[in-house]
Amino acid sequence: MSNFHKSILAESTCILLDIDGVILDQNFDNLFWGEWLPAAVAAKKDISLETAKEDIYKTSKQLYGTLPWYELKFWEDKYDVDLISLAEQNKSYVKFIEGAEAALKFMSSLNKKIFFLTNCDSRLLKVKSSQVSLLNYADDWISSVDLGVIKEDQKFWTIAFNQLNVLASESIFFDDNISIVNSAIDYGIKYSVHITEPTNNDSVIYESKSEYQIRKLVDLIRAD
Ligand SMILES: [Mg+2]
Repeated sequence: MSNFHKSILAESTCILLDIDGVILDQNFDNLFWGEWLPAAVAAKKDISLETAKEDIYKTSKQLYGTLPWYELKFWEDKYDVDLISLAEQNKSYVKFIEGAEAALKFMSSLNKKIFFLTNCDSRLLKVKSSQVSLLNYADDWISSVDLGVIKEDQKFWTIAFNQLNVLASESIFFDDNISIVNSAIDYGIKYSVHITEPTNNDSVIYESKSEYQIRKLVDLIRAD
């Protein structure tokens, strides 16, 4: 499998990568939204942690996969919590996925364009990238929240490809969110690869029916 993915990588002139769950351990985001935000909301509103968790879960379920869900501003306005300070306090949890940095180094050696395409709010990405130096591996990066249109939406790809000045038909893309992998396929990205293990602690493992799938980026550089 790995040789196959190496060859489709070699065939592509442009490498596009999601960040969270592909390069960075998704565990930070899981704790951020599932534990630290509820704790901050509980303290702020003087309610129990369980009540805060339920309320956030309910909102999150309604908005999953839409722009507000990814926007820090939405959550800050709703709960009156300083999310950047919350991220700063916990930034030691920002970590590369095992082997991701080695895979990025390998990709950098291939003399191709490398771009990061994320739905992570750029304010939060700034905190993450102050902890783990990842942006130096990319020629450029785009936060969909800055554009006001997320990767699940076909309009995102039109804007992104115009801005980056590369061709979808020559690009390979890696994401851990199957809806986004499929959105990229619908747009016409040549290879859209599903990453099925977005955490280092194996707390999330996706079953995938995707045509192209690997566990982690490091699979690209593993010897068969
Ligand atoms: Mg992701």
